[in-house]
This record gives sequence, structure tokens and C-alpha cells, in this order.
Amino acid sequence: MPLGAAEGGVVTTRLHIDWTRCDGHGSCAELLPELLGLDDFGFPVVRFAERDPAIPRRDEEAARHAVRSCPVMALRLYEPG
Ligand code: SF4
Repeated sequence: MPLGAAEGGVVTTRLHIDWTRCDGHGSCAELLPELLGLDDFGFPVVRFAERDPAIPRRDEEAARHAVRSCPVMALRLYEPG
């Protein structure tokens, strides 16, 4: 079952982290705890070993909030295609 199918649709939106910008503030992991954890230095770690994790429908608003909240604009949502 694809991620998010239980929420009523196929997930297409993905979250990209620009590691050249990320400063390890950690707010993204607080807003998206099911997708992101933090390493010992406060940098986000993508759970499930996905490079650009798919955003379940229920987390889309939180993901947009995370993008807006990142102080160094290191987060971006995109739809592969
Ligand atoms: S909020 Fe931005 S700078 Fe902070 S850990 Fe997340 S991606 Fe990195």
C-alpha cells in the first residue's frame, strides 16, 4: 500500500532537504515527527531511509509549515514528474 493511501489518495508530494543550507535548527523534525528525526548534532534524519520522503496527505499542511519555518530556506516540496 503506498504511503498515504489510507488518507484517500496516492502521495505525490515529496520533501527535499538542501543539505548545503541546512543549519541543524531542528524545527522541521518537530513539525514532521513521523518523517524526520534528529541526529546527535540536531540535523534532520529522514526516517525509512528515503532520500526525499513522500508526504502523506495528513502531513501536507505540516510539511508546508515546515518549509515556511525553516530559517535558512533549506526545505522544498515538489511533485516528481
Ligand atoms: S528547519 Fe531547516 S535548517 Fe533546521 S534542521 Fe530543518 S532543514 Fe535544517
